[in-house]
Amino acid sequence: MSFASLGLNENLVQAINECGYTQPTPIQQQAIPLVLKGGDLLAGAQTGTGKTAGFGLPMLQRLSETQARPLANGRAPVRALVLTPTRELAAQVEENLRAYAKHTKLRTLVMFGGVSINPQMKALGRKVDVVVATPGRLLDHVSQRSIDLSRIEMLVLDEADRMLDMGFIRDIRRVLALLPKQRQNLLFSATFSDEIKALAEDLLHKPEHIEVARRNATAETISQRFFEVDKGRKRALLSYHIGHHNWRQVLVFTRTKHGANRLAEQLGKDGLPAMAIHGNKSQGARTKALSEFKNGGIRVLVATDIAARGIDISELPHVVNYELPHVAEDYVHRIGRTGRAGSNGEALSLVSADEKPLLKAIEKLIKQSADLEQVAGFEPDPNAPKEAPEPARGNRGRNGGGQRNGGNGGQRNGQRAGGNRSGGNAQRSGNRSGNGDGQRTGAPRRRSRPQAEHSS
Ligand code: AMP
Repeated sequence: MSFASLGLNENLVQAINECGYTQPTPIQQQAIPLVLKGGDLLAGAQTGTGKTAGFGLPMLQRLSETQARPLANGRAPVRALVLTPTRELAAQVEENLRAYAKHTKLRTLVMFGGVSINPQMKALGRKVDVVVATPGRLLDHVSQRSIDLSRIEMLVLDEADRMLDMGFIRDIRRVLALLPKQRQNLLFSATFSDEIKALAEDLLHKPEHIEVARRNATAETISQRFFEVDKGRKRALLSYHIGHHNWRQVLVFTRTKHGANRLAEQLGKDGLPAMAIHGNKSQGARTKALSEFKNGGIRVLVATDIAARGIDISELPHVVNYELPHVAEDYVHRIGRTGRAGSNGEALSLVSADEKPLLKAIEKLIKQSADLEQVAGFEPDPNAPKEAPEPARGNRGRNGGGQRNGGNGGQRNGQRAGGNRSGGNAQRSGNRSGNGDGQRTGAPRRRSRPQAEHSS
């Protein structure tokens, strides 16, 4: 199947060719003809499936087929709005849209917080057809009257579940109230909690439904290994793995921003060039860290869950869970960063005794039991003082009738995570935990976020 056969015009097909895409992905095959028809869409798909082109190409085509009436002040109106949860995702989506729009007259603009608002205001003084924004900064522009949303013809909510998780529902509703009633709405979400369903019901008019599995997070392409280690020895074990296996590009997850900073600093002292990426970093620092990581300038990028959302680094070979996440679903998001686009990846988790309840919650979610391994010289000390166990938190109500696309897609039940690996001097401890019940029922729907990372 070709892009042209989906109904896209020559200008767009040429731009797609220049991007190096030869075949539409499954979400593109389904979404492009539906969006071209002009109806609303509810799509289950994650970053990594090609969803940006899935909504972006038909959006650009529809916009280029008609001309908008100028606003009362004589200016050209903004005609399409894409809302995303994070700055990184906004930047990435806009970059893609710009590339797809290369041979059209349409202009795109990205706006997010953490950077000066002035250049964005200046850019809005020129003709802009498509705005990609995080909700907070968009509302800043609304209150400064630098943007007029009254002529939006198309709205996309990208990673809607993540936006709700991050507490953006009120901002989203404020934005919706500013839009004209007559418009096309596209909602993309990886999961469908009751909250998302309610939003979809309010927002979408007779939507078409499509769903695709994540193309990359399969048991075949990601090998998962779990190492038992004392908390105080985690950094040494991480440095050992990186050095011993000569890993050149590793994405490491910590639970907190502070932990990310500290770890990056300590790894630097171990002679492993590392940077941290999280919501407290300036946008410039985040962009720099990401590009250094992509081009091989640093070997290790230490990230918090939210900062890592939307990062697209192709064929990332290694992901390390330095600390297990409190919300089991984040484990699936994290390991989905590796083995992208069908390449092989390895996800390694360092598990301290206090994290056993978190591991149980993960095992339950992925329907696999983890083989805990030990590395000689890093075995847990049986006499170490006991730490209070880290409780697993609810998974944000995502499993109640919710569909989960991807993440766990393609993993077979009952399969052992860790598989059949011989792994150097690693030994199996034989300490297998079965499927646990680490997730409390009736747990709070949203995790408490002592250092919540909101994009603005
Ligand atoms: P997305 O899910 O939109 O973030 O896309 C994930 C990655 O796949 C991005 O790097 C896109 O540039 C790339 N991509 C999207 N569509 C295609 C395609 N049809 N063929 C090859 N790569 C693609």
